[in-house]
Amino acid sequence: MGQLFSSTPKDEDHGDLESSFTEYFKNYKEESKIISKETVRLIELHLKKGNIQGANSAISDALKNIDTVPINVAVTGESGAGKSSFINALRGVKDEEEDAAETGVTETTMAITPYKHPKIKTLTLWDLPGIGTMKFPPKDYLEKVEFKKYDFFVIVSTTRFTKYEVDLAKAIRLMKKNYYFVRTKVDSDLENEKKCKPRTFDREKTLNQIRSSYLHILRDNGISEPQVFLISNHDSSDYDFPVLVDSLFKELPAQKRHNFMLSVPNITEAAIQRKYDSAKQFVWLEAMKDGVLSTVPIVGILKDSDVEKLEASLSHYRVLFGVDDESLEFMAKDAQVPVEQLKKNLKSPYLLQTKNEETLGGKLLKYLEKFASANGGLLATGLYFRKSFYLQFHFLDIVTEDAKVLLREAYSKI
Ligand code: GDP
Ligand code: MG
Repeated sequence: MGQLFSSTPKDEDHGDLESSFTEYFKNYKEESKIISKETVRLIELHLKKGNIQGANSAISDALKNIDTVPINVAVTGESGAGKSSFINALRGVKDEEEDAAETGVTETTMAITPYKHPKIKTLTLWDLPGIGTMKFPPKDYLEKVEFKKYDFFVIVSTTRFTKYEVDLAKAIRLMKKNYYFVRTKVDSDLENEKKCKPRTFDREKTLNQIRSSYLHILRDNGISEPQVFLISNHDSSDYDFPVLVDSLFKELPAQKRHNFMLSVPNITEAAIQRKYDSAKQFVWLEAMKDGVLSTVPIVGILKDSDVEKLEASLSHYRVLFGVDDESLEFMAKDAQVPVEQLKKNLKSPYLLQTKNEETLGGKLLKYLEKFASANGGLLATGLYFRKSFYLQFHFLDIVTEDAKVLLREAYSKI
């Protein structure tokens, strides 16, 4: 192991770097990558020519772009359709929380209200007035709401979509933006159906009936490949909510996927896994950027500044994956169990606790060794990352597992 960590890249390693880079991104489907094909190609080109400086700056630019590019989501629909509830569900904010979008209120103004995501500062959800209320032709409506700034539109309804909304969708497409038809409150539909037909009630059948009636109407109104997502804002893990989130993720430009995915609450294991995949690519790029220019020998102990940075990155991951102390307290209160009970099956809260004589640096080195022996493949790629990056991968693994454990526990209680 010593050798793997102690060398710095030599000139003849550039070919290796290029193939390692190419190989790494082959692990991810095009739709899951957090950098675009063009960026991947550009970096490969630099590496092929041995232009480490160029590769480094292309990776830097890509990372900076991922960190700073704004993501704006437009949510439109008539009053009562469930816009505010949908925005809260996407932000992972409970309706009663302080900065929640107020639900159940009839709007008296035509105001456009932005809601910033509590964890991802670059993501804003915009609550737009319904087009039916505004009585504007679609083009004027889109001008009024400044359509250019949105990445996509979510058109929310709890009844059938009106002609206004269908025309709006067509206009959005003409402007080369994506839209998604979302039908809220399907939980209520199912409940009603169950009450009316207690003996013959069939959940899937009812959902399919609702879906096909919508697709029918949309097709009749000239939408050629209609899609409608049936959701409940009160249960974002169920119905089409997770499928909707997945579509939004895949259809975003690559550089926006990372932050969008990190913003999504832990609704399903698949969503947690996507978060993990995004975060891992990000750290990998950081490591690559740092590593390929690294001239410092990577032997010996971890520097204090590295240890501090690692502590900070673990807390950051815990927040992003919803397993930080505050989130755990919150969850415990919701589930009416002591927080210790939630914590006892988790690893991340205790990861950096030291006992007796042990130093944090020493503990981290032990993790590093364990991680290295468990991930032979990663270390065999011919890359020389700094130690701290392997530990960041380790933290990501632990935090992701914790998030999955919590999700499973939440389900086992229902
Ligand atoms: P807005 O006017 O479009 O912002 O709609 P709100 O989000 O304020 O929702 C109006 C009402 O519908 C509120 O009482 C919500 O709690 C309720 N509501 C919203 N979405 C759902 C849903 O998916 N299922 C159920 N059962 N109720 C919902
Ligand atoms: Mg509202």
